[in-house]
Amino acid sequence: MDQQSLFNVQPQPWQLDDQDDWLAARIVFSGAPFGPYDYSIPAKLESSVKPGVRVQVPLGRGNRKMTGYCIDVIGAFHELAKTVNPGRLKPIESILDPKPLINPALLRLAHWISDYYLCPLGQVIDTIIPPGVRNNSGTREMTFISPAKGVAEQLDTLKLSKLQKSILTTLCSSVQDWTPRELAETVGCTQGPISTLRKKGLIASSSRRVQQKTHEIPREKRIADLTLNSEQEAALGEIAQHIDANTHRTFLMHGVTGSGKTEVYIRAIQKVVEFGRQAIVLVPEISLTPQTRQRFRARFDRVAVLHSHLTAAQRAWHWQQIAAGNVQVIVGARSAIFAPTPNLGLVVLDEEHDGSFKQDKAPRYHARDVADWRAKNENIPLVLGSATPSLETWHRAEKGTYETLSLKKRVLDLPLPDVATIDLRVDFGGMKRFGPISQKLRQEITQAIKNDGQVILLLNRRGFSTRIQCPSCGHVETCPDCSIPLTHHVSGNKAVCHYCDHQIPEPKRCSECKNPSIRFSGLGTQRLESTVAAMFPDVPIMRMDTDTMRKPGSHEKALAKFRSGETKILLGTQMIAKGLDFPNVTLVGVINADTALHLPDFRASERSFGLVTQVAGRTGRGEKGGRVLVQTFCPGDNAIQAATRHDFIGFAAGELPQREEFAYPPFGFLARIVIRSEILSKAEQMADHIAEEIEASAEALDLGVSVLGPSTAPVEKLRGKFRFHMLLSSMGENEIQKVIRHAQTKIKSIDEVQWIVDIDPQDML
Ligand code: ADP
Ligand code: ZN
Repeated sequence: MDQQSLFNVQPQPWQLDDQDDWLAARIVFSGAPFGPYDYSIPAKLESSVKPGVRVQVPLGRGNRKMTGYCIDVIGAFHELAKTVNPGRLKPIESILDPKPLINPALLRLAHWISDYYLCPLGQVIDTIIPPGVRNNSGTREMTFISPAKGVAEQLDTLKLSKLQKSILTTLCSSVQDWTPRELAETVGCTQGPISTLRKKGLIASSSRRVQQKTHEIPREKRIADLTLNSEQEAALGEIAQHIDANTHRTFLMHGVTGSGKTEVYIRAIQKVVEFGRQAIVLVPEISLTPQTRQRFRARFDRVAVLHSHLTAAQRAWHWQQIAAGNVQVIVGARSAIFAPTPNLGLVVLDEEHDGSFKQDKAPRYHARDVADWRAKNENIPLVLGSATPSLETWHRAEKGTYETLSLKKRVLDLPLPDVATIDLRVDFGGMKRFGPISQKLRQEITQAIKNDGQVILLLNRRGFSTRIQCPSCGHVETCPDCSIPLTHHVSGNKAVCHYCDHQIPEPKRCSECKNPSIRFSGLGTQRLESTVAAMFPDVPIMRMDTDTMRKPGSHEKALAKFRSGETKILLGTQMIAKGLDFPNVTLVGVINADTALHLPDFRASERSFGLVTQVAGRTGRGEKGGRVLVQTFCPGDNAIQAATRHDFIGFAAGELPQREEFAYPPFGFLARIVIRSEILSKAEQMADHIAEEIEASAEALDLGVSVLGPSTAPVEKLRGKFRFHMLLSSMGENEIQKVIRHAQTKIKSIDEVQWIVDIDPQDML
């Protein structure tokens, strides 16, 4: 830190030998203190220190050895020269990477993320570069040998033993790289004589890092292109114009479920690949199914699929392959937006509304906005696809910032499925008698199975009972570390917190009044599974939620079973709502459409609408058609009503005025500050302090940023920490950031209290 204060000291003339002859490197660290700090570059490192390499430098009074990223090399004539005090810099000790780990375009992107999401640059760079790349996973330092200079010409005149001669002859007659062991094996000797020749200077050696194993990219049987319909053709034409002209444009491809969006992406990517460029396709993690991979691998030779089950070494290998330009298409979740493509031509974000595109730890970036910035910076088109776009994207499209491409019809003129609601208020008596499946839904399931169709049942709550309550004193069993009711799981007879995974044995009596007649109520997927199994004893059922899909590969296996028709009823959480394309699904049942409708979150309606519309879209994809039944306590709600009509535009028209009234996104901008501590009073004290400083900064800067709170967060306690939050809102972009940056310098930390800033928050709980 004493280094940073040096920046501000004007250099005295006698401190500089030669005013213009200096070279400094600006360094950031991935942990506190983050920097940046400037160091001088010793002459011997001048040619190898570049932005994007890691260096070792001494830090602070104790000269602690630290590893940091070089983000800039600055000389006397650099535009940043004035910000450097070249007279008093400590020198860089050593350099860790022979080549930059991150290219200039990604480094620019890192700068933007750091500024926009208020996250230290070093931490952002650390997020961009996979850990396996940073610590050389899957590679090994190896020694290679070759004949010393001139040895080949003197082979006949040198005085050598027969074995030595044979070793050198073998080595000289091959252009291949040898390791000492390979050469010894080939000649049929030990490594001893080879070492002797190395000592004599007749064999030269060098070492370098090599990949221990390659991870071949699997290929699929190629399939031919489909003939696009006119809507698909028109959409492709618009995107292609910008690919040909090399210009940036962000498209919203708004297409109903099953309208053939993916086919359009593939054709656009083909164009990009023909130009020798690369494309990135981002999908929600749960959509990285074999079906998705196969679709891309069947159309392109070199597709890298970056999913969460890759080992660090595999991920590092893919990263190197991508950086080397050996990959045409990268398909992956959120972080694939950081793929180091040398010549990016297109980015696609499928299911762009999906919440998983926002990272929930620092840097709290949204892949959609990162993609937008990257596409702009690299002058390429970005395609955002969805049947239920986020209102942020929709609003930008309405304003003309984005260009809308509409696919209004399903492919092959298949109709959208008919959606009907079942009013649970009317049927509530029935619910009590028959459980979670209303009589109507039961009849429809029976019918669908009889006609040899398949059924999908959605319930967005896992576990067996979502509430464990004492009927006598009313006490609800909650997690000791979080203010969250525990969920009863019958497998393992336990009660589990869905936030922190805290588990206790299934309670036998109330923990407050010790009453033994404790009640398990509220419906989770486990209970639904046993109810359905009891109702349809001869029908093969499968449950799909994070509890049953923990093992790598289980998701794939489950979907394969469903595809083959072995499983007739697939039930589960939102995992089953997205992207699946199974023509034989003739019925979708939504067990309770209201699970998310009443959460204290301004996006509750949008999420409910999206979920119901998405799951409804899983049916009617074959000749047999399809039908959807939605059980709800709120059949009149705008979200539910619009979902039954597959009417996104109607939903948006009903929802947007409310957002506008409260200046919520997409009209205003939001940031959320969360303060947490194990000690309630300290959290509260810090929340008040931060709020005061923010208010003062907001007033001083006068940018129209308003502050709401602080108040206790809806989830008051999480993982043992009490939580307070406040919301900052403004009508202008980037203004909240200015206020927070201004306040940050004044906020004094309190021991045992953490606080985080979440720009454009998705999680309001
Ligand atoms: P979306 O992503 O919009 O839900 P998909 O791209 O998954 O839709 O397409 C749904 C189904 O229609 C897929 O099985 C796909 O192969 C098929 N399909 C797409 N375009 C065409 C087309 N032009 N002709 C025939 N079938 C098509
Ligand atoms: Zn908990």
